[in-house]
Amino acid sequence: MDLTLSPDDEAFRQEVRAFIRDNLPRELARSAARLGYLAHGRERILAWTKILHTKGWSAPHWPKEYGGPGWTDMQRHIFEEECWKADAPVMCISNLSLVGPVIYTYGTPEQKAKFLPPILSGDVYWAQGFSEPNAGSDLASLKTTAVLDGDHYVVNGSKIWTSGAHFSDWGFFLVRTNMEVKAQAGISFLLIDLKTPGLTLRPIVSIDGLYHLNQTFLDNVRVPKENLVGEPGQGWSFGKFLLENERTASAFINQSKRELEKARDIAKAEMKNGRPVIEDPEFSRKLARVQIELQALEFSVMRVLANEKSQYNSIAVASVLKICGSELQQKVAELQLEALGPKTLYHFTEHELENPDTDPPGMAAYVAGRTAEYMIARAATIYGGSQQVQKTVISKLAFGL
Ligand SMILES: Cc1cc2nc3c(=O)[nH]c(=O)nc-3n(C[C@H](O)[C@H](O)[C@H](O)COP(=O)(O)OP(=O)(O)OC[C@H]3O[C@@H](n4cnc5c(N)ncnc54)[C@H](O)[C@@H]3O)c2cc1C
Repeated sequence: MDLTLSPDDEAFRQEVRAFIRDNLPRELARSAARLGYLAHGRERILAWTKILHTKGWSAPHWPKEYGGPGWTDMQRHIFEEECWKADAPVMCISNLSLVGPVIYTYGTPEQKAKFLPPILSGDVYWAQGFSEPNAGSDLASLKTTAVLDGDHYVVNGSKIWTSGAHFSDWGFFLVRTNMEVKAQAGISFLLIDLKTPGLTLRPIVSIDGLYHLNQTFLDNVRVPKENLVGEPGQGWSFGKFLLENERTASAFINQSKRELEKARDIAKAEMKNGRPVIEDPEFSRKLARVQIELQALEFSVMRVLANEKSQYNSIAVASVLKICGSELQQKVAELQLEALGPKTLYHFTEHELENPDTDPPGMAAYVAGRTAEYMIARAATIYGGSQQVQKTVISKLAFGL
């Protein structure tokens, strides 16, 4: 991949920068800088998609035929870099990186026509219904069933850790449609309208004190059979395709870059033993190391997004990115707390969540949300597949162990 900026790329950067300057609302940038991805909430996440849609830029990685902008790898990189520099919100991962690619790759023409346009226009939010109380790492053992009854599947079971289901419109679910065959071969991929009777949610408050997770109960939920993607039994392979994208997206490069800048700013402003924290040799060594690791990971992600050929299995490569990216998210969050010192004890309230323009009482604005972000970052090494499981994937698929 050639990373030298051509005059055209430079002109493109100026175009992106100008668009963001003229169209990204200040309050959206402020709240994105302060709140974590899920805490940012449906309306704020989708607001940026809607704005980008007016320019045809709302699905940067999608092929042109499905509404993507048809950018080169370098243009995508420039776009993302300009977005994070301007504190633009992280775009909706479940829509753009997870269900969208499954639908445009494996869906029927009717499914593409129905489901892709609202994703592009930022009018829908999708939740992921894969994990179950006894089927997380061992996803193939999932027990939620979907039994065909006339023109409908009747779905029964329970999913857990369904992020954002309470503010989502639709969910993509892995369900068991055949009990007679090998576990993986009996799984199908079903799109479910979350307002369907029989579907209920139990809120789960996470360690950051916020509500972004749910247990989802499906009790005789009737789903039109045309909402099945592909053939019955193909769900496992679609799930693997999707998880590969999720693990690459979970590297969260741009978010980590933004947060690292914030750690640096905090360390310049906060004092320790009479001098700015940034001047502490131990702290600045840690900061430099994280910055180097982040830059190395960024190039690895770009090589994957550019479909550069690797000698290793692509699923194993996605697992490597997932491991490194999630650990870096945690290291960056730790740096912020280290720089904040005793102010980490400040934890934002519901009021500040609703009004992200409110500064914490008597403290700098950057204090708000840091402790909550540190706490929820602990989950980065669990969701999308835990570290231990990723290491097993790598050892098997990359090294044949
Ligand atoms: C914040 C958050 C958001 C999430 N969002 C979603 C979502 O939107 N949709 C969704 O479907 N799921 C979601 N998940 C679920 C996530 O994918 C699972 O938590 C994850 O796959 C782990 O499964 P589990 O929780 O059942 O843990 P378990 O599988 O029970 O694992 C427990 C521990 O045992 C280890 N372990 C398990 N099996 C092995 C093995 N074979 N070898 C070595 N170690 C092993 C694990 O590494 C882990 O440390 C979310 C999770 C979190 C924390």
